[in-house]
Amino acid sequence: MIRLALILMNILLFSLPPTAMAETGKRKITILYAGTALLVPGEKPSQNISIIIEDGRISAIRDGFITAETLKSPDSRVSFIDRRHSFIMPGFIDLHVHVSSGPKSDRSLTLKKPDSYLVFKAYQNAHKTLMAGFTTIRDLGSRGTLIFGLRDAIKDNLIAGPKIIVAGSAITPTGGHGDVHGYREEILHIMDDGNTCDGADDCRRAVRAMVKRGADVIKVTATGGVLSETGTGTGQQFTQIELDTIAETAHWLGRKVTAHAHEKAGIEAALRAGFDSIEHAMWADKDTMKLFKKTGAWLIPTAYPMTYVGDTPEKMKKGPFKNLPPVMMKKLLRIAGQPQKMTRLAHEMGVKIALGTDSGVSPHGDNAQEFIEYVGIGMTPMEALMAGTVNAAEAGGLLNVGRLVPGMAADIVAMAGNPLENITAVLELNLIMRDGITFKSSQE
Ligand SMILES: [Zn+2]
Repeated sequence: MIRLALILMNILLFSLPPTAMAETGKRKITILYAGTALLVPGEKPSQNISIIIEDGRISAIRDGFITAETLKSPDSRVSFIDRRHSFIMPGFIDLHVHVSSGPKSDRSLTLKKPDSYLVFKAYQNAHKTLMAGFTTIRDLGSRGTLIFGLRDAIKDNLIAGPKIIVAGSAITPTGGHGDVHGYREEILHIMDDGNTCDGADDCRRAVRAMVKRGADVIKVTATGGVLSETGTGTGQQFTQIELDTIAETAHWLGRKVTAHAHEKAGIEAALRAGFDSIEHAMWADKDTMKLFKKTGAWLIPTAYPMTYVGDTPEKMKKGPFKNLPPVMMKKLLRIAGQPQKMTRLAHEMGVKIALGTDSGVSPHGDNAQEFIEYVGIGMTPMEALMAGTVNAAEAGGLLNVGRLVPGMAADIVAMAGNPLENITAVLELNLIMRDGITFKSSQE
């Protein structure tokens, strides 16, 4: 089994196709025949079209199934992908994952293993996510610097994975949700990740330091959270002025800023500070939703993990998190079906929603289950697909993904079923392409 895994790993690591023009000196063009294509989620799907891909981007879209001759480009080497019987759409986007941790990972692994080991775990998780059709992900919390190297190695095509927008370590108050907990003082000191700040000036420094480390986006823990081993609840932890300063500094440096927030007061403080999005927003009520609409912030619901962990206290006590330390279990039991209730309210009130799963709490590669959650709380399948494509691109400030139009990245998935009729079609993909590179292609 281990041998097989190693062989597979080698195939994954070294099976990236050579870049265009490398072999023959000719331009490499791919023509994708699409039976039904939801080029821009939210708009009507197109029928029987050809998508022309060059240098990792979509160069043109033509009606009908065109031949190589029609391109009038004799200097090119043209290959075809035939999905005349499939449903084509943009690669999925997940704005909230943690590829450096997983639901089954030993919490003390970071104490035992070097980063060179941990980066392989993170790579494996990122790869599983790509193979679920997620061609862009945003990692909202990873210790140290390994996530930056992983992001860059994927970008440079050294290894196969999704594009990763990276936050680094979540910025947190001393003793807050994103700080280290659960070990003796000396160990906590060693594990400190330089991500804590207290007071406005110190928090301005912390944002600057995380950008210096390589952060593409700033993640903040505005309130307490479940999976930190501290009995300090899930209430507000940063002050209003700290949040104001963090948002201002992040924006000055050209970064989006997003807040982990559970209780109403903490969510509203982050919204007032001008945060671009709120993760979880567990106990947002009607007034909070009105504030979302007023500020234009995006909600990232992370609904699926509670279905995975158990959406009732009874299921939780028997589920995958049954051995959680008591201080964490106490916080978890309060949550139960709240993400679904909150997301339903947000959708009914017209709050802007973008897809995020918090994978790492739930298994990596299960990310597309979030689409199914959204339909479960009352979204149409089209609205759910928009949340994980065009909406996520806009919420994350990602300019060249989420839509299939000329000039955009060739991030494409295909499936046999029509997800507008049955959303579970997103779970069975027969084509996964990122930046024009095919990572999965199976029979229609
Ligand atoms: Zn998270």
